Amino acid sequence: VLQTNTQKLARYGGRHNVTVLPGDGIGPEMIHHVERILTAVQAPIDFELVNLTSKEDAAEDLEEAITAIKRNGVALKGNIETKFDNPVFVSRNMELRRQLNLYANVLHCATIPTIPSRHTGIDMVIIRENTEGEYSGNEHETCASPAPRVVESLKVITREKCEQITRFAFQFAKKHGRRKVTAVHKANIQKLGDGLFLKIATDIAKSEYPDIEYNAMIVDNASMQLVSRPQQFDVMLMPNLYGNIISNIACGLVGGPGLVSGMNIGDDYAVFETGTRNTGTSLAGKDLANPTAFIRASVDMLRFLGLQSHADIISDSLFRSLVDKRIHTPDIGGTHKSSELVASVIEFIDKELEHRNFQ
Ligand code: ADP
Ligand code: MG
Repeated sequence: VLQTNTQKLARYGGRHNVTVLPGDGIGPEMIHHVERILTAVQAPIDFELVNLTSKEDAAEDLEEAITAIKRNGVALKGNIETKFDNPVFVSRNMELRRQLNLYANVLHCATIPTIPSRHTGIDMVIIRENTEGEYSGNEHETCASPAPRVVESLKVITREKCEQITRFAFQFAKKHGRRKVTAVHKANIQKLGDGLFLKIATDIAKSEYPDIEYNAMIVDNASMQLVSRPQQFDVMLMPNLYGNIISNIACGLVGGPGLVSGMNIGDDYAVFETGTRNTGTSLAGKDLANPTAFIRASVDMLRFLGLQSHADIISDSLFRSLVDKRIHTPDIGGTHKSSELVASVIEFIDKELEHRNFQ
């Protein structure tokens, strides 16, 4: 898991082509920061820019984005604003994940020294089914006339996707030396849908991964446990909507929307973005947003492409900027600008490359 057969990906002269979707809000400026960092570290990456936005008549843009990601295999993405007021407008973000079958969403949430948080010692991975469940987009009104009185909204759970996401979670745990997987569900109420998910997770845990500890927890209790004793969690496995909510709780626990990255992985393609998938529109153009989540998304992408040493240099430089130099933006209680954190990361990268050249 988490490393495709990179031979399948578009590479030209040893360089990787990556589709970049800057998105709305702070996306474009964050992508610009990432581009400077990748240049500083001399990563063999070329950006292919696709401007996908929330314009309602931009169905071709979505097609173009999907074609580009299929060609390159990999994308780096900002979030695209979703409209609430138009029922036929499907979320571009969701449509991308669905059409590319990016069935796993993976967030690593860990406390970072010096960054304020209510708890210490959190280190967990949230693995969320990313294409079905409550996100099927299958809703309709019955008795619509004269005014809608009943709405039905379908949650779709399939054996195939449950098996796929469960095996993904256990493989991930094995590969990364993690000890425990917790399945999160509401099978006491949604007996058929979540019941199927829970049964499959439990069966696969017992029969295929007996060496990894496994437990199951109802989503309401899991939410309470998360805010009171989050250290108990290692890998968490869950269907789509619970995953969305639990991911945001977990990001909040380790410092907020600007810190954590999120990977969307399928068998053929991967899209890297921020964990909480915000646009941060209110912060756009102010040089205030925390670029950490986007920088970490680019680190995830480099690792996925097998560019470990480039990834390590960026990751170390970011850690030293945040922890040793305490370059903190306002969202984590600091007074620094986004650009100051980026400048510090680049300074550490330059020093490291210089050091390596002299060895
Ligand atoms: P908005 O688009 O109105 O800014 P979002 O829902 O996109 O709101 O984001 C939720 C909250 O998280 C907002 O308060 C936003 O400012 C904040 N936020 C999102 N991304 C970042 C970031 N990278 N750094 C700091 N704050 C952020
Ligand atoms: Mg927003």
